[in-house]
Amino acid sequence: MAGGTFEIAEPMARPNPIDPESEPATAGSVTPSMAQFLEIKAANPDCVLWYRMGDFYELFFKDAVVVSEALSITLTKRGKHLGEDIPMCGVPVVRADEYLQRLIRKGFRVAVCEQLEDPAEARKRGSKAVVKRDVVRLVTPGTLTEDALLDARARNYLTALFRPQKGGGEGALPFAIASLDISTGEFEVGEVAETDLAGELVRLAPGEVLASDDVLGDAMVKSWVAQSGAAATPVAGQSFDPVAGDRLLKAQLGVVDLAGFGTFGRSELSAIGALLKYVELTQLGKAPMLRPPKKSGPGAVLVIDAATRTNLELLRSTSGEKSGSLLGAIDRTVTGAGARELAARLASPLRDLTTITARLDAVGYLIDEDQLRDDARDALRRAPDLARAMSRLAFQRGGPRDLGAVRDALLAAEQAGRRLAAAGKAVGLPAELQDIVKRLRPVGSDLSAKLKAALVDELPPFRRDGGFVRAGFSSDIDDARRLREDSRQVMAALETKYVETTGVKSLKVRHNNILGYFIEVTANTAKPLLSEPLSNTFKHRQTMVSAVRFTTDELNDIEGRIATAGERALALEQDVFNALAEQISRAMLPLTALASALAELDCAAGLAALARDQNYTRPVLDGGNAFDVRGGRHPVVEQALKADRRGAFIENDCVLGRASEGPPDGFDEAAEGRIWLVTGPNMAGKSTFLRQNALIAVLAQMGSYVPALSVHMGLIDRLFSRVGASDDLARGRSTFMVEMVETAGILNQATSRSLVILDEIGRGTATFDGLAIAWATVEFLHEVAKCRTLFATHYHEMTALAGKLRDISNVTIDVKEWQDTIVFLHKVKPGAADRSYGIQVAKLAGLPSPVIKRASEVLRLLEKADSKATSSAALDDLPLFAAARPKGSSAERYEPSAIEAALSKINPDELTPKAALDALYNLKRLSGTAMGDGAKGDGRG
Ligand code: ATP
Repeated sequence: MAGGTFEIAEPMARPNPIDPESEPATAGSVTPSMAQFLEIKAANPDCVLWYRMGDFYELFFKDAVVVSEALSITLTKRGKHLGEDIPMCGVPVVRADEYLQRLIRKGFRVAVCEQLEDPAEARKRGSKAVVKRDVVRLVTPGTLTEDALLDARARNYLTALFRPQKGGGEGALPFAIASLDISTGEFEVGEVAETDLAGELVRLAPGEVLASDDVLGDAMVKSWVAQSGAAATPVAGQSFDPVAGDRLLKAQLGVVDLAGFGTFGRSELSAIGALLKYVELTQLGKAPMLRPPKKSGPGAVLVIDAATRTNLELLRSTSGEKSGSLLGAIDRTVTGAGARELAARLASPLRDLTTITARLDAVGYLIDEDQLRDDARDALRRAPDLARAMSRLAFQRGGPRDLGAVRDALLAAEQAGRRLAAAGKAVGLPAELQDIVKRLRPVGSDLSAKLKAALVDELPPFRRDGGFVRAGFSSDIDDARRLREDSRQVMAALETKYVETTGVKSLKVRHNNILGYFIEVTANTAKPLLSEPLSNTFKHRQTMVSAVRFTTDELNDIEGRIATAGERALALEQDVFNALAEQISRAMLPLTALASALAELDCAAGLAALARDQNYTRPVLDGGNAFDVRGGRHPVVEQALKADRRGAFIENDCVLGRASEGPPDGFDEAAEGRIWLVTGPNMAGKSTFLRQNALIAVLAQMGSYVPALSVHMGLIDRLFSRVGASDDLARGRSTFMVEMVETAGILNQATSRSLVILDEIGRGTATFDGLAIAWATVEFLHEVAKCRTLFATHYHEMTALAGKLRDISNVTIDVKEWQDTIVFLHKVKPGAADRSYGIQVAKLAGLPSPVIKRASEVLRLLEKADSKATSSAALDDLPLFAAARPKGSSAERYEPSAIEAALSKINPDELTPKAALDALYNLKRLSGTAMGDGAKGDGRG
């Protein structure tokens, strides 16, 4: 390899001097090493094969072609196979993680094939013997464990999705989902109805989804998997075997009965079966670390569909980044595990009041105890990622730093636990923190002490190089190291001796990995060593451009002693490593409990720091129907305004339904509707207001304090939010179609306990169609769903609904007109807006002045001409809305039909025969349209 960048110049640019396979194949023959390669490749047809040869992972044939393109590395060739050149590329082992990460991100699956013996061993079997190799692991997006391949602050689930076969007479059965993050052992299992599957997949955000061909063949399911960002991996239908699931789960949890972990249905066990079998397959039989499974299900969590998750930018902003999302605004955690816990809580707000209250108690306690919170966070900052280190150790791919991570995490846990316990003695800890303290207790103090005594402070990355056991821990290791060091000193003395014997002052004893130890002199001083008598002692090894290298029997002898002592020290260090790893694996259960306690403490302390810093308040939650937010703020916009020094965020009240404390300041009973219709100018802050209330609900139910002066809220079962306009062209959906699909989802699923946020329904179609749909939607939410709703619209005609339906109130957002422009006050107040100030906002946006001027004229004309037709009284006369009202309340008004209008335009005397035929076709077409429209009706009877 030349320099830092990887380039393959020539097929033989990196011969492996100790590998007999460096011999290229000749035309027509299959060498033993090629036969070995072809056999291993045939066993892993769906992966690209990384084939270990010395210091490189090489790829051959088609794998080389696709991978060289994907990684932008040089494609070269190596020998011939059956008369054809063999394409080849490779990545150096030292940079394997980096290349692996890039390949996995591009959706490749990689089979890593290692040398299973030292090439020297192979040579003992004969000069042509092939080094033993086999695949040690399949790397796929859902089975990563290395820090370099993972985001430290995000979970990486491998998820198995199972759809049970319908029996006779049954309705649609729910899907079973089992998810495991093999990098931490986090494991959850549950069932979900097909209607909630898309949202559930976005909530889990898996790296990889396993499903049968049959399930992935369903276009909807396939698109939901893609929407969640996961790679889809088809697995055989037989893998979803409940008996195997039961057996594997028991074996990996080390129990004979699963009762202690809850009950698992047949479907769930089927999903577990496929999941654990796939882990076994990809990890070549090595068992993962498994935490006790959590049961997930719609009853336990606030259900949020996929569109709402995206619209509210909970974990990612619309640009896909964490910054700009709610998670980005509230994350004050100091460890990767704490950040993962926070993201999981935010993705799955709860519905269980007891658990939410316990979380709020813990956060509240840490808000009040500044010093304790700071001390705990200081301790946590020193805690490495215990769960991920343990997982690597369980898969036997851990290094000394993973042992160090366990040591340091235990130390941090000890400190944080002691500090919390001491504080608890003085003030009394809330239950959640008491539980954390219990789990932070030393896991057999012996392990912590042993790790401290055994390991050096600064640990090397690889166990194979040794050097991680502390001097004084093992007298055998100390002895072997001393011997090695002594020999090194002997080597230094040898150099002095040879300088004297030869008279060459620049003579040096050097070392490299290929030659081992050798004696080196500059080319112009080499002559005496090449001639007798010195040449009897100094045996020539290599001539370079500027130097000549030699060896001597004495040098070889000392080198042998150093090597033996070094090997012995290394072997003894490996024994220490294995013993420590074994001890850690025996303490797996308490250690995973400790890891989650650290993560939960970080999460609670982070939420407390956030509440303190941003002045959040504790929400009051109960089983009622209140939605009473006083002085609410948008958590993300507020921080953005502060960061850019764009002024303070204006707080707003939102009280849906009658509040026990009475209406908000400045409002009267007219504002006590369960549905608030929000009208107001463009840019006034309608969307911000709508979203902030949804985000406050999410924060409250995840157990966080909220950005408001006070919040009293009855627990929400489902949250829906439809905002903005987006299309989904890849799935064949236009902007309007997406809007309607999302609205349909809301209307079909919202219950009286749901919260619905609708921002501008019906904007993507003609004005009257849009208005009609918006109108009917609000009526439906009022009459049928009866849910708490915020509905923003620019259809000012809709404000008439407040006078007609009891539970609808109008609110608007204040602006001031000033010298032909408007000033946004962002304050929500009772009442309705009569206009949108769209042209003034367009002017602020910089539309050219002739366009602004012309638009103002057009608007004046339109308002004059249309004022009657679009008044609310006229709307009452539209058949759609008249149907929803008591009969006889509207007057009949005559409107000519499309056919009548077309007929009135025809003058038969002026028509040619051709034009007459065309006119007839046109009338026929119009009559078809008219019949279609009439048949559609309004669906409400
Ligand atoms: P449109 O109808 O054009 O979509 P809108 O009424 O939905 O506009 P928003 O997008 O909510 O307006 O708000 C526009 C901008 O006003 C926001 O980006 C934010 O910077 C600012 N803003 C909104 N609400 C507030 C508030 N309460 N305090 C301070 N600034 C606010």
